[in-house]
Amino acid sequence: MSDTKAVDRHCPEHGTFDVTVKWGSDATFAKHPCPTCGRKCGRPRIETGNELPMTQLPGTWPQTSFFGGVHPSQVNELREHLRKHGVNAEVLPSGDVKFTSRGQRRAYLRARGMVDLDGGYSD
Ligand SMILES: [Zn+2]
Repeated sequence: MSDTKAVDRHCPEHGTFDVTVKWGSDATFAKHPCPTCGRKCGRPRIETGNELPMTQLPGTWPQTSFFGGVHPSQVNELREHLRKHGVNAEVLPSGDVKFTSRGQRRAYLRARGMVDLDGGYSD
């Protein structure tokens, strides 16, 4: 089993690119420089910050998380953890987390002790 995974980042000028990060590291959530222009880029779709608020994007939910899925070997642990914190999000066998609402995503991030690094939502 690999210790790294590829995550997507999106440069407004040069499109989506892959970054390989270690599982569970901050790099999973951080912005990464575009290979072409060096601009720090966030995750695609909802994270670029210059797009419509999530609530106005059609078909955004349910959403499989870009926000801190876990290694497949940690799926049961994460499920248990979320249950304890009353977070009703579905953890897929792949280690990704599926949310059906924005509140659920927030609760999940709280439960995992993370802040949304991109911030910018005023709700
Ligand atoms: Zn670029």
